[in-house]
Amino acid sequence: MEKRRENEQRPAVMPAGALPQLIDTHCHLADPRLQASAGSLIARAEAAGVRVILAVGAIGSIQTDRDTVAIAEQYRNLYAVIGVHPHDAGSCDRERMDELAELARCAKVVAIGETGMDLHYRNSSRAAQEEALRLHLRLARRLSLPVVIHCREAESIVAQIVGEEGMPPRGGAIHCFTGSSADAARFLELGLYLSFSGILTFKNAAALRETARLIPEDRLLIETDAPYLTPEPHRGHLNEPAYVQLTLSALARVRNAEPAALAARIMTNAATLFGFSPPPVN
Ligand SMILES: [Zn+2]
Ligand SMILES: [Zn+2]
Repeated sequence: MEKRRENEQRPAVMPAGALPQLIDTHCHLADPRLQASAGSLIARAEAAGVRVILAVGAIGSIQTDRDTVAIAEQYRNLYAVIGVHPHDAGSCDRERMDELAELARCAKVVAIGETGMDLHYRNSSRAAQEEALRLHLRLARRLSLPVVIHCREAESIVAQIVGEEGMPPRGGAIHCFTGSSADAARFLELGLYLSFSGILTFKNAAALRETARLIPEDRLLIETDAPYLTPEPHRGHLNEPAYVQLTLSALARVRNAEPAALAARIMTNAATLFGFSPPPVN
């Protein structure tokens, strides 16, 4: 009896006073609103237990990607994701892809993105977004990196394009997932991870919480998408990586999971997908 219990998988027990091993898998530290204070944001995140940060460039010009890589190079557990945001898909051409491939030679670049489709804002044409998504999927395959996908009100077409192009061998994630349970099932079937943001804490997100409850534990990620999507109770202020703890709490609550064990699982998921070595548990 005793022996059998030892062999059972039991949740990790946190030492008293220890913080969960958190990761923010998606934030925009080179955003003009965050860049100047990146040092203090990172310090605050560390104090909140955030051990790894993935900073995403992609918004605006290639300079945002360059700035993001430069920030990643300054900190040990900070990595960069580079690409062209769907809002800027109009400027996604072969030359830009070549520049990204060159920048991706830096070892701190762990994924290509965020690419994808946004049919809510439609800041660039649907055709340009589709083409840009295809180019990113091919680039991720060529560079042997995972892909990070933005998807807003475009779940069917994104799943269709990923299906047509084929998932890059290193896989990928839908960041800030806001789709239905059926969308989640389709993305999971394609092999994608699903990342949940501070939206999980919003009062009107009951359906999303119900979907998050059902996602297999080994496909879960969490993120802030800072400076956007500030979680409760900080709405109205700029978001920052430290607040990822609020999304972890919301996810743990809805899944009836022990927060530290869930955080450890998410760290392992992210390390597996993005190929970094997880920091040692203290
Ligand atoms: Zn996005
Ligand atoms: Zn983003």
